[in-house]
Amino acid sequence: MDDLFASSALPPERKHYDFWSIHAREKLGLPDDWRWYRLEAKGENITVVTGAVCHEVYKAGKHKGQINWAKRDKETDIPVPIRRDEHKAWLLSWECRSGECHVCHGNGQQSVGWSLKDGSKYRTCTRCNGTGASVSDGSPEGVKTGTGLIEDDSAAAKQDALSTLSNPLPKGE
Ligand SMILES: [Zn+2]
Repeated sequence: MDDLFASSALPPERKHYDFWSIHAREKLGLPDDWRWYRLEAKGENITVVTGAVCHEVYKAGKHKGQINWAKRDKETDIPVPIRRDEHKAWLLSWECRSGECHVCHGNGQQSVGWSLKDGSKYRTCTRCNGTGASVSDGSPEGVKTGTGLIEDDSAAAKQDALSTLSNPLPKGE
């Protein structure tokens, strides 16, 4: 039953990219299975993305099926500081390479929060107008058409909240 509940957190047909992990991996050449387990703000402009490779999951109990970060590969445990402007530029570069919109993760519908009553809530993505396609032209400012500037910080915060669902913090630390 734990597994059923966990898989209902995001609809299975909805794509989700773990941008902090992908960016940190590309920046330092980390393994493909490296993922963050902690995000920390340092001042106004830096996010420290700390992660590791970890294939251990809880085999029982209420965390069954979730990653057991206490058993992570310490050799790959590393903090990766990423500046805000650096991450925004990286997201635009990711759009150019993937052809997908980073705000809605290529789905056309962007997350606008979650509630116990209604579950995940979505609306037509304001960056790509619901197409799910990249609107980046590769320039630092970024867009080919429309008004869709780079995501604002509230959107980034919501995205982080979604990522947190899939990357629970390590227990007992
Ligand atoms: Zn979009």
